[in-house]
Amino acid sequence: MVQAEINIGILGHVDHGKTTLTEKLTGKWTGTHSEEIKRGISIRLGYAEMSVYFCNKCKRYSVKEKCDCGEKAEFKRKISFIDAPGHETLMTTVIAASSIIDGALFLISANEECPQPQTTEHLMVLNSIGIKNIVVVQTKVDLVSKEKAIENYKKIKEFLKGTVAENAPIIPISATYDTNINKLVEAIETTIQVPKRDAHAKLKMFISRSFDVNKPGTEIKNLKGGVIGGSVVQGVLHVGDEIEIKPGITRKENENPSPIVCKVESLREESEQLDEAKPGGLIAVGTAIDPALTKSDSLVGAIIGYKGELPEVVSTIKIKYEMIKRKDIENPPLKDSEILAINLNTATTVGVIVGLAKGIATVKLKKPLVNDKSARVALSRKVGQRWRLAGWGQLV
Ligand code: GDP
Ligand code: ZN
Repeated sequence: MVQAEINIGILGHVDHGKTTLTEKLTGKWTGTHSEEIKRGISIRLGYAEMSVYFCNKCKRYSVKEKCDCGEKAEFKRKISFIDAPGHETLMTTVIAASSIIDGALFLISANEECPQPQTTEHLMVLNSIGIKNIVVVQTKVDLVSKEKAIENYKKIKEFLKGTVAENAPIIPISATYDTNINKLVEAIETTIQVPKRDAHAKLKMFISRSFDVNKPGTEIKNLKGGVIGGSVVQGVLHVGDEIEIKPGITRKENENPSPIVCKVESLREESEQLDEAKPGGLIAVGTAIDPALTKSDSLVGAIIGYKGELPEVVSTIKIKYEMIKRKDIENPPLKDSEILAINLNTATTVGVIVGLAKGIATVKLKKPLVNDKSARVALSRKVGQRWRLAGWGQLV
């Protein structure tokens, strides 16, 4: 069984073709977002896997085992795609998704003015988080004339100047007509390589989903334990490992959460069982814990590690931060008592500023976080009805 080696995020403005392209590449529909778009600051991430093949006869990449020429193509690798919805209120989800991706497809539609609002905002995220492995995809070229497509291409090039995506390849495609999909796969293969992983690093898995997989009415003796989904970002997780999940469960209001300690009963990726899970791909961890603790994504944002190896859990954090210069909205300095949405790894919470001094904000959180000082913290503020990215920082 081959595990996906890498997670690639699919970013871009709403309606620029993320869902359609994901389906084209993976054969799987990730677009179950609409029912889930209920305002809030967190939302499930869609994901799907793609297998990359190479035909040695016609030297072409594809996502099909059998090449169009009839030859059996050579399997290259598996990639896991993470699709975050483009809806503006859900920027915090895009930021959470970016904590588990190693590269990105950045979609820009050929039939709209470049840039659209989330085009700008998503690039801001890639830029700030430092994701350099980017392939820019100019989508829907079938909807415009050749001249318009070239003009739009130049606009895109101009827009990317001075950003992490400045030298990224730009691949014009039409998902509807299957145009240039092979070229896109080739660009992914040459541009988005598997990052160097430290095999000896301490285990760290970020949780992005959690479920109760039992149907209502299941007899107690047949109940399955809680299932946790996410990505290992360093180290290796094995079946049989004893793990700790932090922050864990809050049993009483205003009480500190206690970590969950449990054993890994099973590991799977999509429908396949694994004995161990390395970084890359979204995996599901089967446990024996009470499924009530994992249902409805209740553990999203928590971290899995080996017992005693994860940082402490805190409900007040200090962030050394910098504001983002935004052209599209006003972004004045932070104010005392201001409410912020805080993203740290896959965790999203709301907090209030209780102290500001010399570029350091002290924030009292509604939901405690694992004090992970190696991660970048995103700060969003409410502008009208929307959370807008305001700054970035590091926990101190
Ligand atoms: P998302 O919001 O970024 O996930 O965008 P969708 O994938 O839902 O696409 C938005 C709309 O554009 C849908 O109606 C798609 O059928 C259409 N669309 C996507 N890709 C193409 C394309 O390459 N050509 C054309 N003509 N339409 C496309
Ligand atoms: Zn071929």
